[in-house]
Formats: sequence, C-alpha cells, structure tokens
Amino acid sequence: MTDLDALREEIVTANRILADNRVVDSFGHISVRHPDHADRFFLSRARAPEQIVAGDIMEFALTGEILGPDPMPGKPYSERFIHGAIYEARPDVQAVVHNHSPSVIPFSVTKVPMKPIMHMSAPIGSDIPNWDIADKFGDCTNLLVTSMEMGRDLAAALGHRTVTLMRGHGSTVVGTSVRQVVFTSVYMELNADMLLRARDLGEVTYLSDGEIETITKARSGFTLERGWENWCLKAGRPYVPGSNETGPGYSQTDKS
Ligand SMILES: [Zn+2]
Repeated sequence: MTDLDALREEIVTANRILADNRVVDSFGHISVRHPDHADRFFLSRARAPEQIVAGDIMEFALTGEILGPDPMPGKPYSERFIHGAIYEARPDVQAVVHNHSPSVIPFSVTKVPMKPIMHMSAPIGSDIPNWDIADKFGDCTNLLVTSMEMGRDLAAALGHRTVTLMRGHGSTVVGTSVRQVVFTSVYMELNADMLLRARDLGEVTYLSDGEIETITKARSGFTLERGWENWCLKAGRPYVPGSNETGPGYSQTDKS
C-alpha cells in the first residue's frame, strides 16, 4: 500500500469516526491537504460519511476543480469550496471538517456564546466567530457554500482560529492533522451538548483563556492517539498507529 493509499484509508476512518460520534450524519465531510502538493486536497465524492470507501476519495485543486481520479467515482460535494478556500488562506491547516453537528447549531442562531466548559474541549478556543452567509450574499441563498467567493468569505471569518460557526447551517473545524481535527470536532459536539444542559442548571463557568492555553500547549500526540484508537475500533475500522503516539508533550494531564 502506498502512502497515498494509506491516507485514503485514514480519510475513510475519519469519516466513520465522525459519523459514530454524531459530528456528521448523512451530510458533512472531512478533507486532507495533499502531503506532497500543498495546492491540492483529498475529499470524498458526495456520499454519506458512514458509507464512504477508499475508492470514493477524489483529488481537487484549491479552487474546487476536480483533478482525479479518472473516471470520477461520482459527484463531488457542492461545498468543497469550504475546504479549498481554507487551505488557500491557512498554510498551517492540513485537515478540515465541515459538519452540521447538532448540538452546535443552536449556538449559531442565538447570541449565546459557544465556549469550552470541559478540559477536553479546550482546543475549540474561546473566540469562535459565527459566519452569516446573509451578510455578504443576501437572505435568499440556500445557506450552502457553493463558490470560491463564499468559501473565501468563510475563511476570512475563521481567520487564525480553529472553529467557525455557520449561522443556521453548522460549523467548520481546522487542524494540523486528521487526528487533531477529528478530536476537536468530537469534543466540540460533546461540549455544545454539555453546555446546553449546564445552562439549564444555572450560571455557567467557562474555562479561562489561561486554562485553554495551558491545555492546548500541553496536549500531545499521545492524547490524540488514545482517542483515535478507541474511536477506530468502536467504528469498526482497523487501528493504524500514528507516528507521534508517544510525543514529547505526554503529561499527567494527558493520562487522566
Ligand atoms: Zn454544510
């Protein structure tokens, strides 16, 4: 198996994990930047994440143009511009998840801020913008990001951050690896669900910016790997150990 074949299998696994953890349902997608060509990315054909197989993975230019394979396995996602525009704006980003994570949506249609309340969720950050497609494209769109112009506007709203909400639609999460973006996405959904319930009980104490910074800096490959292994096996996918399983940031916090 070539490295790119292994990457396609990893994308399949990521789709299954995201589905298994309610981040995506029949809709939503994850892409990965091409490891050898920074101006290309991999993304499945338009298919429910739980059904995706390696043969569904397509290759795109950042502008959304289809580069392969030939013949195409099927129709591409109409929202592939989310991914391309973010890779274009953010050289540091290697993987992108776009989702309609159900517990997150309420925060996109209200003024209630979505912030981390639990240590595992710290990577979502405390400064999460809410991109509203209507601000630039009017109130008669179908809310989908179907052009580079829309994708670039979304990428500008995301800025240097990890997450942006998308009003009445969902959210987009970025990361420096597949494992990291999946981890952040899973804990974003859990955090939103917990936050909705905490608000019913009373006043909420969020993580402080200092706590978020400390946790995010200390988080290592070991923590991501521990989640990834468990989620792979739960989703019925083979676990292939990552290269940084015992990264230098391994700490007491990570073992909790
Ligand atoms: Zn969408």
